[in-house]
Order: sequence, then C-alpha cells, then structure tokens
Amino acid sequence: MLMFEGISNMADFDLAIIGGGINGAGIARDAAGRGLRVLLVEQNDLASGTSSASTKLIHGGLRYLEHRWFRLVREALAEREVVLRMAPHLVRPMRFVLPMEPGMRPAWLLRLGLFLYDHLGGRKLLPATRTIDLSRDPLGSPLKAGYRKGFEYSDCHTDDSRLVVLNALDAAERGAAIRTRTRCVSAERGESWQLVLETRGRREAASARALVNAAGPWAGVVEEAVLARPPLRQLRLVKGSHIVVRRLFEHDRGYIFQNTDGRVVFALPFERDFTLVGTTDSAYSGDPAAVAVAPDEIDYLCKVINDHFRAAIAPTEVVWSFAGVRSLADDGSARPQDAPRDYVLVVDREGAPLITVIGGKITTFRRLAEAVLDALAPVLGARPAWTAQSSLPGGDVPVTGVEALVTKTRAAWPFLSEPHVRRLVGAYGTRVRRILGEARTFADLGPVMGADLTAAELRYLVQYEWAQTEDDVLWRRSKLGLRFGRAERARLATFMAGLIGAGAAL
Ligand code: FAD
Repeated sequence: MLMFEGISNMADFDLAIIGGGINGAGIARDAAGRGLRVLLVEQNDLASGTSSASTKLIHGGLRYLEHRWFRLVREALAEREVVLRMAPHLVRPMRFVLPMEPGMRPAWLLRLGLFLYDHLGGRKLLPATRTIDLSRDPLGSPLKAGYRKGFEYSDCHTDDSRLVVLNALDAAERGAAIRTRTRCVSAERGESWQLVLETRGRREAASARALVNAAGPWAGVVEEAVLARPPLRQLRLVKGSHIVVRRLFEHDRGYIFQNTDGRVVFALPFERDFTLVGTTDSAYSGDPAAVAVAPDEIDYLCKVINDHFRAAIAPTEVVWSFAGVRSLADDGSARPQDAPRDYVLVVDREGAPLITVIGGKITTFRRLAEAVLDALAPVLGARPAWTAQSSLPGGDVPVTGVEALVTKTRAAWPFLSEPHVRRLVGAYGTRVRRILGEARTFADLGPVMGADLTAAELRYLVQYEWAQTEDDVLWRRSKLGLRFGRAERARLATFMAGLIGAGAAL
C-alpha cells in the first residue's frame, strides 16, 4: 500500500471529496481557492455520472414556481448571471419560446409566472419576457398550425461536462489533487479520515481532516459500502432521459412545451446541426451506472416532437440519447417530478467532519460549494468565500466579449474555418491560444482524428483536462461523438494510446 508523501500536518489533506461531478469539482475549486489542501477522487472520468446527462440549462426553473419553490428559483435565477459571468464562452444566454396550448395552463397564469421569473432573481444581463404571436412570428413557423399566443423568456444553456472539467482544472491550478479513475473503497473515521483509494487495481492510502460525500446518485452506496454508515433515507433517485435528433428548426431559440401529463419538455438547438429533446422523469432504483434510455422514453419524446412540430421524427432517426439519475432529497412526493430540486447538506461533526450532499443542480453548484465550505470553516479555518466574482479557466472575457474573441481568434489563425473557431472558443475561451499556439497552417495542428479534432487539441485534452479514453474526448470534453464514425473512433483510440503511452497524461 502506498502513502501520499511529503505532506506533514497530521493528515495528508484538509479536505477529501468523493465524486468528480459538478458538486465535487465545484467544492474542490472553492476549497483550493481558500487555501485548503484538497484531494478529489473520481472513480471514472470527471462528469461521467449525472453531470453529463442534464438538460444543460443554467436556469431558475420556471416549472418550479408552480410548486412554490420560490427560494430555490430566486437563488437559481440570481446564480444564472453569476455563472454566466464566470464562463461566458461556455454558458450562453438562450431565449425560450413557450407556446400557449389549449386545455393547458391559462395565459394569466403563465404571464404571472413569467413576471415572477423576470423579477425574482435581480436579472441584470438577460432580456425580459415578451409576448409573441406565433401565427405571424417566424418562431411559429416550425410549429404545427394553430398556435397563436406564446411567450419568449430568458435562461442560459451550457455544456455541463465541460463546466465540471473547468472547475476541476481551476481547482488543480490552485493546488488541488484531482485523481480520476480513482475509487474511494473505504474511509474510516478517527481523528482524521483514513481513506483507501483504488486506481486500476492499485491501492493507496490517504488521510484528510474532513470528508465530503459528493457522489451524487451513488451517495447512498458510498454511505453504506465505503463509510460503513446506516442507509441514507433522505435520498431519492429519479431517472431522466434525452434524445438528440437532426436540427428541427433554423433559429437559435429553444422551445418549452407543456405536455398533457403536466410535465414540460424542452427542444433546444444543440451543437449547430442538432436538436436536444428532454426530459423524462421516472423513479429509479439500482446501480446508477446501469442507467439507460428505455425504448418507451424515446417513443414519448418523439411523440412530443410530433405533437408540436411540423417535422416528424421516428425513433429510428434518433442520433444519440443519454440518461442520468438525479439524487433528490425525498419529501415523500408521489410523482418524481414533484420531488424538490433543492439540495440538502447532511453535516456530521461527531469526530472528523463529514458532509453528505443530496441533490443540487448544475445551476447552483457554486452556492452549494460555498455552503459546504462555510459549514466546514469552524473546523478547517479556511479563507472567506471568493468565487462569486471569479472566472473559470478561459472565461476571462466580458459577457458581451465572446464575439470579439471569435473575431480575434479568426484573425490570429486565419486558416481555421468559422465553425471550427466557434467550437474552440465555445469550449476553451481565451485558452484557445494554448491549443493553437504558434501554428501558421492547418497542418501545423497535426493529424485530424475526425470532424475538426486535431492532434493539437487532443494533446491539450490529455495533458491538461484528464482525458484518457475516446468517450472522455468525444462525449465529455466535446460533443464530437455526434460527428465521428467507427473508423475515426478507432483512429482516435490508437492516437490517444500513443499519447498516453508517451507520458502526455497528467
Ligand atoms: P454526479 O455528476 O453524478 O457526480 C458524482 C460522481 O461521484 C460520479 O461521477 C461518480 O462516478 C462518483 N463516485 C461515486 N462513487 C464514488 C467512489 N466510491 N469513489 C470515487 N468516485 C465516486 N440541473 C440543472 O441545473 N439544469 C438542468 O438542466 C438539469 N437537467 C437535468 C436533467 C436530468 C435528466 C437530470 C438527471 C439532472 C438534471 N439536472 C439539471 C441536475 C444536475 O444534473 C445534477 O444535480 C448534478 O449533475 C449532480 O451532480 P453531482 O456532482 O452531485 O453528481
């Protein structure tokens, strides 16, 4: 068994975090920025759990107003603009079209909800709601005939898994140890936490003064099997699935449809050529790693498209689908969609502190991290909160400055196509420089793996962003999986194996 070496002060780390989803990565970043010695372990790849399977909205949650979850909506609405400022390249404002539907929520109710939505969170950057006549407005043309009144309101959209990676990257740059493909197999409580970690069959020990269980839907498994504690009764698991189909409309707005079962379903522009549709909501039990999209969920989502759009979609036309499991705090609600979306922190200070995270949203990860660090402050004595005014790596541009960055990047590397520059700037922000470097021709970026993925970008992903497998690159660091064929994947795998073998990995 190996020990972390060279670190004194009783325990190896001030804080150990189990789970490299948005919550674990956000906590690691906040803690490292407060001067704490941080270890984050992720059993698979960063964001390989729920944090790559969300609808990818940075939103207040319009639907939550019906449940009167005003505090959650207010906090999330305010957070929307904070997160937008932190990473304006990755988090993009989006306008959402909400058509009125016969027999559904009446206009006065929607108007009231949208009025609250516009005003609850102190909106400064995003435009307000407007009413639209869908029978005349071009936004009505992709829809079936018969729609008249509708509303258009603001929220934001992001790439959830890249948001996780940027948090981990920032944490690492502030001194945190980020260990992917490393599972915490046991943690014993003494004066500090004694952890046993396993990386590809190899075991090592580490100790930490405090521990956070940020294992998302695995939080219950970690509690029982890793920490040998009683079952987490507050945890409820709810599955949600999405499908991706060819682009159903030309403009950049999203649609939010009210469905006959009382649920809402989004249809969002996705990766330039596609539309993302979701989500479903169903109770889940069992191993979160085994979650998969069921045929009846694909049928359900296709039906929603076919009920609302002129274009019809058959299940065979679905180009990608993904499912995720939410961890939610159980309040005993009968329907999964009624379970509260707020987070709960279970704080146990009987000995070395343990905080268990239940629930949470991509949108509110920064606030959740602050709450965790505030709860640990009396024990760990860390510096005060700092993330509200911060930038994530590559996000050091003004909210309105992303177009200027695209123009600057095109001028500096004129051999790149516009869609390529837009993809790179959207993913890496100002850090495109680190990928493109001194390249003067396209060939200088090295061989192309498929689509517009060059060896230069791949090298960056392996060296700085913990990418180890094709899926890490194609689905979590990018969505290039939508554009890669089998042969290109094989080529990518071979090239990556060479890079990793040559020691380019961290
Ligand atoms: P996860 O991302 O699941 O991370 C937990 C990690 O812990 C996993 O990567 C796992 O591998 C790791 N782990 C587990 N056990 C161990 C161990 N023993 N050792 C090491 N690592 C371990 N939120 C929004 O704000 N906007 C949305 O649009 C939105 N849409 C959603 C749609 C769906 C269908 C779902 C399911 C959720 C959605 N959410 C949304 C909520 C959001 O996705 C989740 O709240 C969030 O991703 C949870 O992150 P997490 O870090 O807690 O969990």
